[in-house]
Amino acid sequence: MHLIIAEKNIVAERIAAFLSGKEKVQAVKDGAATHYIFDDTIIMGLRGHVVEVDFVDGYKNWRSAEHPPRSLIDADIIKIPTEKKIVGLLQKFSRKATRVTIATDYDTEGELIGKEAFELIRAVNTKVVIDRARFSAITKEEIIKALNEATPLDFNLASAGESRQIIDLVWGASLTRFLSITAHRGADSILSVGRVQSPTLAMIVDREREIDAFVPTLYWILTLATKKDGAELEARHTHGRFTDAAEAKAAYDATKNPLKVTEVITGHKIDRAPTPLDTTALIVGASRLGISASYAMNRAEDLYMRGFISYPRTDNTTYPKSLKISDHLKIFAHGAFAGDARYVKEHMRPVPTRGKKETTDHPPIYPTSLASREDIADDVSWKLYEFIVRRFFATICIDAEWETMKVNMSASTEPYTITGGRILEAGWRGVYPYSKAEENILPVFTVGETLPLLSKNSEEKETQPPARYTQSRLIQRMEELGLGTKSTRHEVISKLAGRKYIEGNPMKPTIVGRAVTDSLEEFAGTITEPTMTKTLEEHMGDIAAGTKPMEVVLSESRKMLAGIFEDLEKNQDAIGRGLMERTREEQIIGPCPVCGRSLQIKRVGSSQFIGCSGYPDCTFNAGLPPATWGNAVKMDEVCEEHKLHHVQLLRKGAPAWKLGCPLCSHIKSNTDAFMLIPGMTESGIKKLNAAHIYTISEFIAMGPVELSKIFGLTRPVAEKYISDAQGVLGLLKKRTEMKKFISAHVVPRRGRGHSKVSAALISMGVTDITALSKAHPADLLEAKLSEAEAESLVTEAKNLVNSAKMKEYGVPTITLKKYVSAGLGDPEKFIAVHPAGVSLATGVSVTTICNHQKRVAENLCRPGPEKISKAAFDEGIAPLREKAGPDVLIPLALAGIYRPAQLVKADAKTLAKVTGVDAKQIAELQKHAKKVSE
Ligand SMILES: [Zn+2]
Ligand SMILES: [Zn+2]
Repeated sequence: MHLIIAEKNIVAERIAAFLSGKEKVQAVKDGAATHYIFDDTIIMGLRGHVVEVDFVDGYKNWRSAEHPPRSLIDADIIKIPTEKKIVGLLQKFSRKATRVTIATDYDTEGELIGKEAFELIRAVNTKVVIDRARFSAITKEEIIKALNEATPLDFNLASAGESRQIIDLVWGASLTRFLSITAHRGADSILSVGRVQSPTLAMIVDREREIDAFVPTLYWILTLATKKDGAELEARHTHGRFTDAAEAKAAYDATKNPLKVTEVITGHKIDRAPTPLDTTALIVGASRLGISASYAMNRAEDLYMRGFISYPRTDNTTYPKSLKISDHLKIFAHGAFAGDARYVKEHMRPVPTRGKKETTDHPPIYPTSLASREDIADDVSWKLYEFIVRRFFATICIDAEWETMKVNMSASTEPYTITGGRILEAGWRGVYPYSKAEENILPVFTVGETLPLLSKNSEEKETQPPARYTQSRLIQRMEELGLGTKSTRHEVISKLAGRKYIEGNPMKPTIVGRAVTDSLEEFAGTITEPTMTKTLEEHMGDIAAGTKPMEVVLSESRKMLAGIFEDLEKNQDAIGRGLMERTREEQIIGPCPVCGRSLQIKRVGSSQFIGCSGYPDCTFNAGLPPATWGNAVKMDEVCEEHKLHHVQLLRKGAPAWKLGCPLCSHIKSNTDAFMLIPGMTESGIKKLNAAHIYTISEFIAMGPVELSKIFGLTRPVAEKYISDAQGVLGLLKKRTEMKKFISAHVVPRRGRGHSKVSAALISMGVTDITALSKAHPADLLEAKLSEAEAESLVTEAKNLVNSAKMKEYGVPTITLKKYVSAGLGDPEKFIAVHPAGVSLATGVSVTTICNHQKRVAENLCRPGPEKISKAAFDEGIAPLREKAGPDVLIPLALAGIYRPAQLVKADAKTLAKVTGVDAKQIAELQKHAKKVSE
């Protein structure tokens, strides 16, 4: 059997279709993975890496004294399967296979994934032939060719990938731990450090420093307006920018009639066609289309796997000779680009353009097959596909040609100029609308002719700071510096954003991003400089080329890292202090409305709130949703009224939840509550807010004296207000309790969150747990609960209410638990049964039970149940225990029968009815009772 292994399922499916025709393929679903069978061939897809590298056990605990961060440098590393089902399937097929072909992506990562598969196969089959198919496009031709020309796996290339994995793990984990521990960061706010990530972040921070340090200067641009053949034209002073105000003014004043043409120069300009696309150019092009780097790569990969474009991770900008351009163009003779293809055919250059780089692994990115708008489901993919097609067209079209014109003139003594251009030959521009070049066709001028001076203008401008990096610009810069690879650059940027080190596009560092960079630069500059990463990158290149063994590179990198740790550990205290000082600002959102000190975002466990730095002197605080909804993060926007920074909640994989100004939302969320106080008005609330009273609790705490001052009320009225407010507070507490109860007992479903269920219940008048415990389950169905859910919710509520009552009546918690588990949690039920039975059912002594029953009965204003002594109980029950078990004795005792004498007197049938115990069993026990009582 021939087993073919693709990197992903979608590729496996396509390969199967190419090799056999769709009809013959049998797709078999096996839990996590699908595989494809035809004839004697099985094709399966992996899920990228199916194993991962990690440290051996014992290194998981960050706080371990035995394994401090530095010990990670030399910790042993193992491979752990991450996709167990797929690994199982792979090994199952490998046992039977006679040939295995690894058909993963053709790059370092793909080679490594191939090697991982190779090792898994060898573990179960030492003999099978394993080869490697390499292809740059998932088309029938390429795949069949690659299978026919399969070669051995490139272990050097795979080792290069593996060493990158290991180095990144070791550097990232050890440095991240060191820094996070040093700065006392919690688990949800670790300070991540990485080999590529940190120098990239440093570039963004550097740019921000340049912007901060930038001092703008003024300059002036002089222009004049004139007219020829009815068209108004603008001429610029040939001096360009005037940086001296006096000089600009002098030139402006000297600009006057006569305006005379002094020179007319016509020229010819070649406008070169663009070169083929590599990954960086694709990302740059995509960003002009408004597509982010990582999303563009995601869509490009999808287009590749579906066979529409060649492999999108490539450094090559020269088409291979094997690509027959004219033949390939024929693919587009139909479909959406038919007109353009015809144009290209008429404007074709003899050989396509070529860029500076020529590699042999992959071609530049080009379209491999024709897609229609319907084939490609989403707009972004289509935009990207169209761009790739048009770029391909442009690279095989002739250059564009322009006629240029320059008209020099003098306005009295001052020289001015007008430039224009006209397209003579559109060439590639006819199919490539992405870089517009506007024609500016000038009328015909003759030297010596006089023109009217319509107006003159001196425009004052300011020099601009350097621009922040856009994603695509940063990726270009990373490439120039040798940071990361074509496959990882865009991921590094996403990671920086994910770690909250940078924000926006163009990108700007956050306070934390700056703090981390500042600290690293101060104490361990090598981490933030591109040189070190570039060196390691080169060493990995050496592994791939087979000139350096992986072990040597790994041990060199470990030595480098140990050196960095020397510096870091020496300065640990200073680093920690610096980081904490620098990051404190990230939590400060503005002035406290009560005392003017600073308000901070604070966290205690999963709850978070805005608190005053003056605590405990100032107790102002405003709640925020718990951290399960996302970590509260300060934003740039500032509330005009309160001068406080807005706050948003950020959670992985969810859109940001913008809460806005925390004080505005604090006021808003308390408005409804205030309005529950009879007689309260909106303007009344405003008055309260102005006196820094934001919540009902604060309102109550203020007391009647203060309140009567604010509102100008009489003392009794103010007192009435406060007592009403106390009532409202109680009501709200109960509501909160119920909401908590609902979220603990109702499983959220799509369209039915906890808050929706709570809101529905409140609107039905079920505003607290007591009301819920008394509700009929059938009435609760309106709140989107199922019958079973409603039933169990009411039962749970009853239990809770009962337990609360029992506790209130003085039953201690541990004993109460025993009663509840015996089904006696309901106070009414508890006093309705005989203490003997309760004791048998719970193991609690009868004396205790009698006390509890007495207390509960008193509280319920009921007569207390029969009281018995422990001695009487023990004496009575002992002889019966000889003959019967708890299943018989408990129900009898609960009904008050626990002595042989009682049993003898009783009527077996009636007793059976009352207790549910079988009449025969009772009769037998009666016989025994008679014997012992005689
Ligand atoms: Zn305060
Ligand atoms: Zn506000």
